[in-house]
Amino acid sequence: MVSGSYRPTKLIIDTQAITENVSQEVARLPKDRELFAVVKANGYGHGAVQTAVSARRGGATGFCVALLDEGIELREAGIMEPILILGVVEPIYIELLLKYDLSVTVATLPWLTEAQEILEKAPAERRLKIHIKVDTGMGRLGFTSIEDTLQAIEAVRSNTAMEWEGLFTHFATADEIDQEYFLEQQRFFQKVLAELPERPRYVHSENSAAALWHPESPGNMIRFGVAMYGLNPSGTAISETYKLKPALQLKTTLIQVKELSAGAGIGYGKTYTVSAPKEWIGTLPIGYADGWLRHMQGFNVLVNGKKCEIVGRVCMDQCMIRLPEYVPDGTEVILVGESQGEAITLQMIAEHLSTIHYEVACTFSQRIDREYK
Ligand SMILES: *Cc1c(COP(=O)(O)O)cnc(C)c1O
Repeated sequence: MVSGSYRPTKLIIDTQAITENVSQEVARLPKDRELFAVVKANGYGHGAVQTAVSARRGGATGFCVALLDEGIELREAGIMEPILILGVVEPIYIELLLKYDLSVTVATLPWLTEAQEILEKAPAERRLKIHIKVDTGMGRLGFTSIEDTLQAIEAVRSNTAMEWEGLFTHFATADEIDQEYFLEQQRFFQKVLAELPERPRYVHSENSAAALWHPESPGNMIRFGVAMYGLNPSGTAISETYKLKPALQLKTTLIQVKELSAGAGIGYGKTYTVSAPKEWIGTLPIGYADGWLRHMQGFNVLVNGKKCEIVGRVCMDQCMIRLPEYVPDGTEVILVGESQGEAITLQMIAEHLSTIHYEVACTFSQRIDREYK
């Protein structure tokens, strides 16, 4: 997909903010603990490679992605540090995992059996790096019993074509005030750790929320995602341990400003009608194809520090706002970010859309040009 480099709608990514968020976390970590930056989904919409490089500058020593393709993207951009794929990659792609030296998550015994057969048929120079995942209560990926976990570990350890590089789990409620279920998961993981024949290179359990609010969780590596982008993992439920700096701004400019009279309709379906004798209406070059969703109707953007309501339905490429006064075509509009002391955050958008800021950041489409500073 092309991105719109010849239009004023831009995502502006503050790479220094990413670096600072990472270095603040690295400074808090015990000496033996590393930070892997989670850059899946195009770095939560911020750009995977640029985020990875910015995180590395802040002290990240490895990276996590969700897809094989995302791992390959980092390698092709010259990233040499360890990369773990958090999702399941079908064993038929083992050759690519080896070629790009990507570590893979293993969550079932049949996967291991299939992988063993493939590796026997086509011996490789490099060993396949494996992180065994334990499902301690997320109910998503991983072995659900200690017995199966140990059996998988044994299968990997006894296979010379495989390297047991890691063991990990994922918390479901590390971002909540109530700690009961979190502690249950943590106890389960501790039990598994107590049964291990040896420790692999990496043991990890913490996402951003656990790193911020449960830094005592087991492991020697953390998987630092949303907080690196300057977003509070809990939304607003728990206050940040230290000041996180949001890395993303969304801007555009007014492409047409017009004065309309009472009774004039705005947008498809005429869901908004000018009610004052005269209203200034401005058109913005951003729409739902950019991830600026139709549900944004009724939300606000900032023009010269003033909140302006999105009126009428959001179209595919454009939307309209009501201006408090005349401003010229070409005036800057802040959709995410600050303007003269007023701010619109991803969290505010998330609340308007009844979702979480993670989803808002990921929803900005490739069509929006990203600018890095
Ligand atoms: C996405 C993901 C993370 C990062 O989570 P954040 O809340 O963004 O820090 C960590 N671990 C796993 C397994 C994930 O899927």
